[in-house]
Order: sequence, then structure tokens, then C-alpha cells
Amino acid sequence: MVEVKNLTKFYGSIKAVDDISFTVETGEVLGFLGPNGAGKSTTMNMITGYLSSTSGTVTIDGCEILDDPIHAKSKIGYLPEIPPLYIDMTVKKYLEFMFDLKKVKLPKKEHIDEVMRLTKITEQADRIIKHLSKGYRQRVGLAQALLGNPPVIILDEPTAGLDPKGRDDILDQIAYLHKQSDMTVILVSHSMEDIARYADRIIVMNKGSVMYNGAPKEVFAHYQELEKIGLAAPQVTYIMHDLKEKGLPVKVNVTTVEEAADEIMQALEKKI
Ligand code: ADP
Ligand code: MG
Repeated sequence: MVEVKNLTKFYGSIKAVDDISFTVETGEVLGFLGPNGAGKSTTMNMITGYLSSTSGTVTIDGCEILDDPIHAKSKIGYLPEIPPLYIDMTVKKYLEFMFDLKKVKLPKKEHIDEVMRLTKITEQADRIIKHLSKGYRQRVGLAQALLGNPPVIILDEPTAGLDPKGRDDILDQIAYLHKQSDMTVILVSHSMEDIARYADRIIVMNKGSVMYNGAPKEVFAHYQELEKIGLAAPQVTYIMHDLKEKGLPVKVNVTTVEEAADEIMQALEKKI
């Protein structure tokens, strides 16, 4: 379990994170949503121990991060917003390098083969990172986050800059990895569409504060407030509201295409 308590960060006089508290349960997929500048990356950089907080605490399974950042880093795999890839290395060399840097205590060759297999980059092992597509680079970033089998992984905007197919690929990949273990996942995004399909719970941040914290359906019910802070609801939310206004008796609080299809079919059957 990850516990964030009264976390605050000032950059000079700018308050980027303003006294936020939340917990993430073991095995949960938490969607961490907010417009640009909300304080998402700053929060993740503090949780992972890469940035010191101005005040507040972060504990992972009872271990205080800020007291023991090295131990904390062994508990969290992190794909930062701008991953520090060494683009002149081959994929395999880079993973070996990161393996050493993280002081992973597992059989090296086997473990690196395993993370490459899990992220489906085995065929890219000997390719130089700068020659890979953006989608494959994100997979390398993901593979690096998995080194050492951390119980928690944090992915900061893993779909940024990807086309829709690349975006679905990486999100499906994350969902697949989550299913393989009881890993806790924090998925940061400014896109509700990304998060709606995968998150068990959503936290919305705005201007350094937590605005909502709840199940996707509860949070998306506030879609008008979310629009006001620059976040668009999933497309299906708009379609369902439209259908209801036009007289089809559908529930509006669905968030995925699959749920919408079921709901529309049921409403149509009722009508006939
Ligand atoms: P998000 O990830 O939600 O887009 P950030 O955490 O990157 O938000 O930024 C939150 C706020 O802190 C923004 O106002 C941003 O300009 C500011 N900020 C972020 N990093 C720095 C920094 N290194 N120095 C000064 N201000 C920063
Ligand atoms: Mg960010």
C-alpha cells in the first residue's frame, strides 16, 4: 500500500503540490488525472523519491520513502514523463546498465530476458534505442521500470506522443502486466479516455490539489466540472447523455465502449 500524507511542494514561491493525501491499495490500478500543470509529475517524483518534498510523507508498505530513498526505489518501478533512455545503447545494453544501477538481486541474464519478453521487445534486443519507434521506446521504458519486479509501478503519461494504435498497444501491455501479478499501478494521464478503460479508481488533480477521488463512474459523473478544468470526458459519456436527452432510457454513467453498447442494447430492447 502506498500512503501519501499532507504532501506539499514549493518551487521557490510556486506551490506546485498543495497538501495532498491519498492511499493506493495493493493490486489497485489508480488513474491519476489532471490538466497540464496540475502537479501530477511533481507528485510522482516525490512518491518515487526523485524529488524531495517541502513537507508531508510518503510510505510504501509502511516504509518511509524520504527517510530511505534507496530502499523505496527498490519498491517502485518508474517510467518518468521524460524517460532517461541512453539512446546510443542497444536495448539489451541499456537494460543491463539499469539492472546494475538499480542493484537488482536476481539472475541478470534470465531477468533481463524476462522483462524483454513481458514487454515484447525480445526481437529489438540488439537494436540501438535511437533507431526505435516511439512506441518501442516506451516499451523499453516500461521494461526498465519492471527491473527487479517492484511491487509498485508508476507510469507518467506513457501514451504521450503516441498515435491511437501505439496508445492502445502500450495500455494493453500495462493491463496485461497487471493481470500477470498483483502489481500496484499508478497510471498518470491528462486523457480520461486512456484511464477510463483501465483504472479501478481515479484521482483528479487540479492546481496542486485533489479535486476528486473515486470510482471512474463517480468521477466521470462530474464531466461538466472536469470540462471546466480542461479535461474532456470519454467520448461515450457524451453519446450517452445525448441519447438520454433524445429520449432513449439509458444510464448515463458508463465509461467504456463495451458498457455503452450493452446499455444501448438493453434500452432498445425495452423500447421495442
Ligand atoms: P503536471 O505533471 O500535472 O503537468 P507538474 O508537476 O509538471 O504538472 O507541474 C506543476 C507546476 O509546477 C506547474 O506550474 C509547473 O510549471 C511547476 N514546475 C514543475 N517543475 C518545476 C521546476 N523544476 N521548477 C519550477 N516550477 C516547476
Ligand atoms: Mg506531468
